[in-house]
Amino acid sequence: MKKFSIQQLALLTNKEKKDLKILALFTSVYCRDHHTAERESLLALPEQLASLKSYPCCASCREFLNYAIERRLNCPLEEKPVCKHCQVHCYRSGYREKVREIMRYSGKTLIKRGRLDLLWHYLF
Ligand SMILES: [Zn+2]
Repeated sequence: MKKFSIQQLALLTNKEKKDLKILALFTSVYCRDHHTAERESLLALPEQLASLKSYPCCASCREFLNYAIERRLNCPLEEKPVCKHCQVHCYRSGYREKVREIMRYSGKTLIKRGRLDLLWHYLF
């Protein structure tokens, strides 16, 4: 797994850490309902992102999450807009679609399960 530099991690804001946590949660919900491969926690996470270990998912979803984390750490924008309004479109083709699909599916699932509190934090 790719290692993230201390410098990059020091630049992570609480908002970004929360965004990544939500993405990990949503990916884990999506993975549980779509993938049958064995799920594991994300490993080798830095201390600042240790809370992401609570969301196990399959190997391909872990790869997806690692990519998302890497992109977020390398985002060139100083004042980051909400990613869906971003002009840079850092998620490479394929990943962006997967992000959308995961968000749509897991958003609906969480609403059905009455976990609006989690969505609330994500959307507002
Ligand atoms: Zn998966």
